Amino acid sequence: MTRVYMDANATTPLLPEVVESMRPYWMEHFGNASSIHHEGQHARAAVDRARETLATLFNCSAAEVVFNSGGTEGDNTAIFGLLRPGDHFITTSIEHSAILRAADRMAQHGVVTTFIDPAASGLIDSADILHAIRPQTRLISVMLANNETGVLQPVEEIGKIARAASAYFHIDAVQGAGKVKLDVRRFGCHLCSVSAHKMHGPKGTGALFVRRGTPIEPLLVGGSHERRRRAGTENVPGIVGLAKAAELAMHSLEDETIGQLAALRDRLEVGILALSGTGVNGAWDGDKPVPRVANTTNIWFGQLEGEAHVIALDLKGVSVSGGSACHSGATEPSHVLLAMGLDKTRARASLRFSLLKTATEAEVDYVLKVVPEVVEHLRTLSPVAAGTLA
Ligand code: PLP
Repeated sequence: MTRVYMDANATTPLLPEVVESMRPYWMEHFGNASSIHHEGQHARAAVDRARETLATLFNCSAAEVVFNSGGTEGDNTAIFGLLRPGDHFITTSIEHSAILRAADRMAQHGVVTTFIDPAASGLIDSADILHAIRPQTRLISVMLANNETGVLQPVEEIGKIARAASAYFHIDAVQGAGKVKLDVRRFGCHLCSVSAHKMHGPKGTGALFVRRGTPIEPLLVGGSHERRRRAGTENVPGIVGLAKAAELAMHSLEDETIGQLAALRDRLEVGILALSGTGVNGAWDGDKPVPRVANTTNIWFGQLEGEAHVIALDLKGVSVSGGSACHSGATEPSHVLLAMGLDKTRARASLRFSLLKTATEAEVDYVLKVVPEVVEHLRTLSPVAAGTLA
């Protein structure tokens, strides 16, 4: 059976070049990057080269790159590493749970959080951030691209607001990296999280940009790795794979790849919207498009229930996600779509299509053939259509 994977925002496969780059570091170059002998120095040199590549990705200096285990760790480090009792924290209600649950935990330690809601378009209004500032505001955290809608947030404006308020600014760029150009200097942030597995790198590896002088307390203590900002023997193959994935991602931003991907996503979206009772969640502010990453579209299907739809598409060889993949298994509708003002039924009736950068015309054609069949079939069975869904 044909299989088309359109769940890139959940995770991506390693590219062959990434696998090849990592291979020697499992066996022949297995050294501990902290050892002073030959094997150790070989590993150290690989980590140093990778740090230079990540510095290029972020547009920062190599000393400002901290390797870690991925997006969750970067997000947690920003919050647990900077906030103290009595501080005020500003974030948005559409962040990943790595931010939201960390804020919940800090509430038990005397940190007050203001959650800013987006507009119906999925866009955060930077004026709302400005109005939320208090004298105690120590940290602002806003994602670059939303994982469910792909909407790009106005981080540069928020960076200016943070600067004027003398607050630290963290950006969760996990869904933006590789899809739009990162530039931590232009964004005006102090911290920025990325994760390898969202850009064709290995799972469990990521990096955090930490601007020089940012007084971050490490989450993990022990050895003096990563300039005492993250203890633990470096995952050398993972770091090398992350760097290769970052390098390839930067090339994709410069060649045709991302433009072609946006055209494929648009064709998919237009094709699906030709079905009755469908619409895009976010991405439009009235009749004006809002900026979003090239690979994502989030679509509601009237009279359908997302989970049944995901399963029916899976049986036809198409992998998509209803709500955030990081919450798969949860029955609650997406907190992002609810925050954008969708009612629970419509939020539950929504699917996220997120294309890999290797997506093809043939894959889009296949999905455009299968989706109408599945929608028609499910609508004839739908308890929502029958009015029997609670
Ligand atoms: N932030 C965002 C926006 C995400 O989409 C994800 C994963 O889906 C994460 C953070 C967590 O990243 P990781 O899976 O590397 O822990």
